[in-house]
Amino acid sequence: MRVAIIGAGLAGLSAACHLAKSGHQITVYEASGGPGGRAGTVGGEYVIDDGPTVLTMVELVEEAVSAAGSRLSDLVELIRVDPAYKAFFSDGKTFDGDGRISVHADTEAMRDEIKRLAGENEADAYLRFVAHLAKLYEVEFPNFIDRNFNSPLSVLRPAGAFYSLLRLKGFNRLDQVVSSYFQDQRLRRIFSFQALYAGLSPLKALGIYAVIAYMDSVKGVWFPRGGMNRIPLAMETAAKAAGVRFEYGSRVERLVRTGNAVRGIELSGRRFVEADVVIATADRPLFDQAALPNERIPARLRYAEYSPSAFLMLLGTNEPSPSAFAHHNIFFGAPWKESFEALLERGQLMRDPSVLVSLPTLTDPALAPPGKGIVYALEPVPNLSGKVDWLSERERVRNAMLDRLQAWGVLSDPSAIASETTIDPLDWLDRGMALGTPFSVSHRFFQSGPFRAPNQDPRFSNLLWAGSSTVPGVGIPMVLTSGKLAAKRVMAMGARP
Ligand SMILES: Cc1cc2nc3c(=O)[nH]c(=O)nc-3n(C[C@H](O)[C@H](O)[C@H](O)COP(=O)(O)OP(=O)(O)OC[C@H]3O[C@@H](n4cnc5c(N)ncnc54)[C@H](O)[C@@H]3O)c2cc1C
Repeated sequence: MRVAIIGAGLAGLSAACHLAKSGHQITVYEASGGPGGRAGTVGGEYVIDDGPTVLTMVELVEEAVSAAGSRLSDLVELIRVDPAYKAFFSDGKTFDGDGRISVHADTEAMRDEIKRLAGENEADAYLRFVAHLAKLYEVEFPNFIDRNFNSPLSVLRPAGAFYSLLRLKGFNRLDQVVSSYFQDQRLRRIFSFQALYAGLSPLKALGIYAVIAYMDSVKGVWFPRGGMNRIPLAMETAAKAAGVRFEYGSRVERLVRTGNAVRGIELSGRRFVEADVVIATADRPLFDQAALPNERIPARLRYAEYSPSAFLMLLGTNEPSPSAFAHHNIFFGAPWKESFEALLERGQLMRDPSVLVSLPTLTDPALAPPGKGIVYALEPVPNLSGKVDWLSERERVRNAMLDRLQAWGVLSDPSAIASETTIDPLDWLDRGMALGTPFSVSHRFFQSGPFRAPNQDPRFSNLLWAGSSTVPGVGIPMVLTSGKLAAKRVMAMGARP
């Protein structure tokens, strides 16, 4: 079969790798000039990632690359990031001397850190919490994440897995589960803030989302030498070596249909390419509007709640990254409940935001010229359904971020800035992302698993979806899995007589 994959982001690359040895003829059509999509880089003197920075579950990259017949370690050097994070707790603008915790994926090292900062009881609670997370992951990953669903009722099968999730308090509130282990407010934050990656308040998310904390804080965080874009480049190399064709600068304008099947794709310049199966990974629903203009946007996308967005500040500096920090640092703002209400319910900026600051030059100094550094700062902000007027607010948000970076000691002085890029929700919208968020539809329970827009399009027999708008969802591990799940569907189609 001729399989056309739309998009060379991580989802499209994963589908390409998993199909590379299937005997089908695979071509990837990518609008931009190279692989990576959101996992991209602002090039130049400084190699600065402008998308994901926290790389977890590298075995999923390995799995895709080996499906294409290559070895990941031959293509990219992965460096273990330890500590996975350093967390800083604020009382307004200053950080008290005892207010920082290093999060180690190594259980013993983390136990010692917790014992030092919060005492023996909390350290023992941590061991019980890790055991809980491991069980949750064992049930959840194969049965609810790495799985194709054919109907919402399939969530109940296998019944054993569903009841295990119930027993593991997967349907209790995440903050209650985490609080049942830890008395220390700082530890409660460290092991629940990850709900925000799924577009949810840690105070409202379900216990099933604790698996995200397992993926980063327990299974660990990695960094590819040369920057995050090395991951898509490695996957592209593996897919190409196995015969996958890539056409860059090829925007798919339309999906061409006959009845309930897609006959092929129309590229810019009105070039038509026939395909037996199409896997589309572009962000929905803006892609649907453009490529299927006579179709109604599926209700699961039209009425969905979208995740908050991100304000990104990317700096190349004339000074080295300060060694008092880790590669990844989370500066928690003082308010907690109030912050999530502002961000997720009122559509406002957080008064005292929690910010992720990554300093990749601490791990890989060659990303910047000798003696210089990179600062990547990400503030969660409302998406464009919120109340922020970005045209008038972006300057203020930028200045406030610079003030914070200085107050925290990440940046000595604005005069140390050699290059600066900011990206806000209007920029994400320009890049084709609905409601100006790169994090798509949120992971509320009824927008997850079999309730999320399915990867087999119900309207067309040979149209599949992968990427953050479909199952299993947002983030590198999820979109890599989505590519694999779409590839499985193609292989099942190919097996039909
Ligand atoms: C700022 C930021 C921080 C993040 N942080 C993390 C993190 O730390 N850890 C983590 O795990 N995840 C993180 N994520 C999420 C993760 O990066 C994404 O979920 C993932 O990269 C999305 O991959 P994708 O392949 O689904 O989509 P994309 O990367 O968007 O790929 C889609 C591709 O399709 C192409 N395309 C679109 N329309 C067309 C068309 N009409 N024709 C042809 N090609 C087209 C696009 O150019 C793009 O290359 C972050 C994302 C962002 C933006």
